Amino acid sequence: MSKSLNILKEVFGYPAFRGQQAEVIAHLANGGDSLVLMPTGGGKSLCYQIPALLRDGVAVIVSPLIALMQNQVAALHEVGVRAALLNSSLSQQEAVEVEQNMLAGKYDLLYVAPERLLTSRFLHLLTRVPVALFAIDEAHCVSQWGHDFRPEYSQLSILHERFPQVPRIALTATADTVTRAEIIERLGLAEAKLFVSSFDRPNIRYQIVDKTNSKSQLLAFILAEHAGDAGIVYCLSRKKVEETTAWLVARGISAVAYHAGMNTQIRSLHQERFLREDGIVMVATIAFGMGIDKPDVRFVAHLNLPKSIEGYYQETGRAGRDGEVANAWMAYGLGDVIQLRRMIEESDASEHFKRVAATKLEAMLALCETTTCRRIRMLGYFGENVSTTACGNCDICLNPPQVWDATQAVQKALSCVYRTGQQFGAGHLIDVLRGNETERVKEWRHDRVSTFGIGQELPVRAWRAVFRQIMALGLLTTDSGGFGSLCLTEASRAVLKGQQTIYLRQQSVQKKVSNRQSNDELVTFNPAEQDLWERLRAWRANTAKEHGVPAYVIFHDTTLRELVRLCPQSQDELRQVTGVGARKLERYGDNLIEILRI
Ligand code: ADP
Ligand code: ZN
Repeated sequence: MSKSLNILKEVFGYPAFRGQQAEVIAHLANGGDSLVLMPTGGGKSLCYQIPALLRDGVAVIVSPLIALMQNQVAALHEVGVRAALLNSSLSQQEAVEVEQNMLAGKYDLLYVAPERLLTSRFLHLLTRVPVALFAIDEAHCVSQWGHDFRPEYSQLSILHERFPQVPRIALTATADTVTRAEIIERLGLAEAKLFVSSFDRPNIRYQIVDKTNSKSQLLAFILAEHAGDAGIVYCLSRKKVEETTAWLVARGISAVAYHAGMNTQIRSLHQERFLREDGIVMVATIAFGMGIDKPDVRFVAHLNLPKSIEGYYQETGRAGRDGEVANAWMAYGLGDVIQLRRMIEESDASEHFKRVAATKLEAMLALCETTTCRRIRMLGYFGENVSTTACGNCDICLNPPQVWDATQAVQKALSCVYRTGQQFGAGHLIDVLRGNETERVKEWRHDRVSTFGIGQELPVRAWRAVFRQIMALGLLTTDSGGFGSLCLTEASRAVLKGQQTIYLRQQSVQKKVSNRQSNDELVTFNPAEQDLWERLRAWRANTAKEHGVPAYVIFHDTTLRELVRLCPQSQDELRQVTGVGARKLERYGDNLIEILRI
């Protein structure tokens, strides 16, 4: 057996490498530089943790986030690996102690914040010890265009200049080619070997539903598919975060809030609870999530449309890192399209930036309105040509939408926009189409325009879907005055002239696409197994509390589930279970066997 496989089994308790892990590890262990692009949950950490144990000296891991470092170090301690961290959370004295220990060769891995690493003091210390490797985690932080930009990251090329003989590995889950090029350039990795994994996350089921009442839809989704599960709910505004949290809490869901406007202390308290307790729902703006490596997030819900597929992919990617079944669910409606278009229009950014933002939004909308497999579309957007066979694990594949010839309806809608002077929003236009004599209709004398009452055959909800879809198709746009009025576009002309046929998606009567269906083994615990599962979870929660670490650092759900299924009765049998390495066996073996014997 190769040395690295042996470490994987003995130390980490896993039976086999995933994806490209083995190749990456071999390359680094042999002293080669590399850039690793792997999706979230792909298992990037082991790519440097195992070489750190194989090579002489201390491996220095650069990481941008304190919480991330703490969790990684805690997890390494649990499996008996000598690791420590150096960042602003330590006192002066603690930091000096860590440095002394490093010089004494007491660590295999040291996690360091970039600003600390770059001090001349620390760089000098590094000349006094053998360094096994440099790992630059979250390498996309060098990108000035991304939202995670860290100025110190762009100075990390100094590592190669000062320590040319030490191999480097840069890792990121950001998939786009522009960021990739920037990382290579700024970190001086032109010669490095590139490892690009597929960005598909097959265990995540994508669902995008028509928004009617987003809060009730969310609650129904949680109750039906995720009662008691940990999840993240993303909202666009702070206000919506607060409202949604309160609403969920009032309905018995353990939800907490997180946004940049909150008091720092409360915010980190909520983050801690989410990480440490089982089954907490985090309601947040996109300020939350970077560096959250909780593996058992079972769902990510969006109550608002993300601004780009990159954002959507990154946010939904926080679900199911452990590889178990997970859901990415989004409710999306006409209001979202209008709001985001308006935000782009009204921003002070340059014309170039606005154009880029608008293009990204168009792609996101196309993903929402697609009538073909969402996974294929999304991966295609990242330049990945996956198989042309549909994935079978998105709402479109599971419940293909019907399309209808909407040419006439669209003509009516566009013509109504034109007849009323291109200065109204969808609500008013629908009133005119349906012949509602509202105050506003009368005030503007829109009961006299030729399109008044010509759309009575469709209910309001259907009209909203028509407007939303034709916005997404680029047949309507919002005005630049910032009032959300809908205007015609170049593309509308052909439709109005009857030169183009338009097919739209039928309003879906929301059939439930349950993720539970596909994974029977997850839920078919019999009562005795269920009881064992509960007891194991309780034991895990207690142990985690005693050790001051998140529950998943003790064991993942995957491990507990295997324990229930296999019910091992001896140390030897326990050793076969995923996630049970030598150290955990020694520490927890007796306890577990006691629980399993009852
Ligand atoms: P990433 O940093 O790429 O998002 P992590 O390194 O955090 O992913 O790994 C995701 C999860 O998968 C972790 O909890 C890790 O323990 C687990 N994992 C990684 N590699 C393996 C493997 N070969 N077998 C089983 N589990 C693995
Ligand atoms: Zn699909």
